[in-house]
Amino acid sequence: MSADAEIADAVERLRPELERLARELYDEPEIGFEEHASVARIASLLAAHGVDVEVGAFGLDTALRASTAAAGAASGPHFAIIAEYDALPGIGHACGHNVIAAVAVGAYLAAAPVVAGLGGRLSLIGTPAEENGGGKELIIRAGGFDDVDAAGMVHPSSGSGTSSVLGQRTTGVRRVAVTYHGRAAHAAGAPWLGRNALDGVVTAYQSIAQLRQHILPTDRLHGIITDGGAAPNIVPERASALFYVRSADVAALRELTDRVVAVLEGAALATGTRAEIDVDPVPPYLPLQTNTALTSRWVDAFAARGHEVPPPAEPPQGGPSTDMGNVSRLVPSIHPSLGLGGPDDVFPHNAAFADLTVLPAATDALVDAAAALAATAVAYAADPELRAAAAAEFAASGGPSRWAD
Ligand SMILES: [Zn+2]
Ligand SMILES: [Zn+2]
Repeated sequence: MSADAEIADAVERLRPELERLARELYDEPEIGFEEHASVARIASLLAAHGVDVEVGAFGLDTALRASTAAAGAASGPHFAIIAEYDALPGIGHACGHNVIAAVAVGAYLAAAPVVAGLGGRLSLIGTPAEENGGGKELIIRAGGFDDVDAAGMVHPSSGSGTSSVLGQRTTGVRRVAVTYHGRAAHAAGAPWLGRNALDGVVTAYQSIAQLRQHILPTDRLHGIITDGGAAPNIVPERASALFYVRSADVAALRELTDRVVAVLEGAALATGTRAEIDVDPVPPYLPLQTNTALTSRWVDAFAARGHEVPPPAEPPQGGPSTDMGNVSRLVPSIHPSLGLGGPDDVFPHNAAFADLTVLPAATDALVDAAAALAATAVAYAADPELRAAAAAEFAASGGPSRWAD
């Protein structure tokens, strides 16, 4: 049997289990670093297929690793399939990471025997807290990608097409947390004794809105107030906010963060409070760098499953971020988007998107995506020209880099 037929056969047999996995994660969504039941479900599905799984890998309770060869025991080309399974607070799997997990498990189970037969290595790396914790960067720092040569995952999106497949770009993101410290006072009895920490936050929020007029079209700035005081009749002694600073370019991201920090300090000066600023409470996410040589294998395999893959659209400016960006700057990587067949205006991070992930169209899409991702991993093991093309493209864009470089 050809590798393609073997993969097609495998994903078809796995279909009910992958559908169930996506549904079970949807039914019990868990936010970043708390994905205990989710990772246990993934591990038990893998174990049922005879896979040796490590939960709690890389020093993270909800990280997972499975590999066709123990690390260092083999020297063939090493492709890592990446899984995510964290949900969003309050709106469940509105980013579709339940689908990402099902695609990754399906791709790993379908590709592992083929890759092993070719003398290559395949790993499944389960990465916690994509939404809020930078699990992939933590795994990078723990050495989890040290012997990985290339990596891939698939992320669901709205719409039926896969239009952003080759042109997909994300911004890098840094978080900036700020707490203003003022002085409490009776808000009516002796307001002159107070220094209002909430005024620090509000001034900062307004000033960032003004800063937003003078940033690049590829930058994004947004935030929320996380603590606005305890009661109206107490001048808030303490108030906090969390801002996200995004840019499509690493150098611009650093510069914009400095401008944000200056605004936060200015708000303290204006309100007679003190700003306690925490830059990067979680690791920065780098802008995604798609490897087009590898992605074109994904496109071919996905098209072969009966999908029309439109030519790459002009990438939108700005946009969301992913910690897969950090992996993509360490090794050649793919992160194609996968339309789930819903209306175009149901975008991730809206609760309606979570509901799309368990409809029959989503199951069809995820099974095809698993097959295409498996085919990409197999091609990486089988085709030295593909490996060379991927490596040359990666080197031409600057080679491996980390945030700390
Ligand atoms: Zn998301
Ligand atoms: Zn996501």
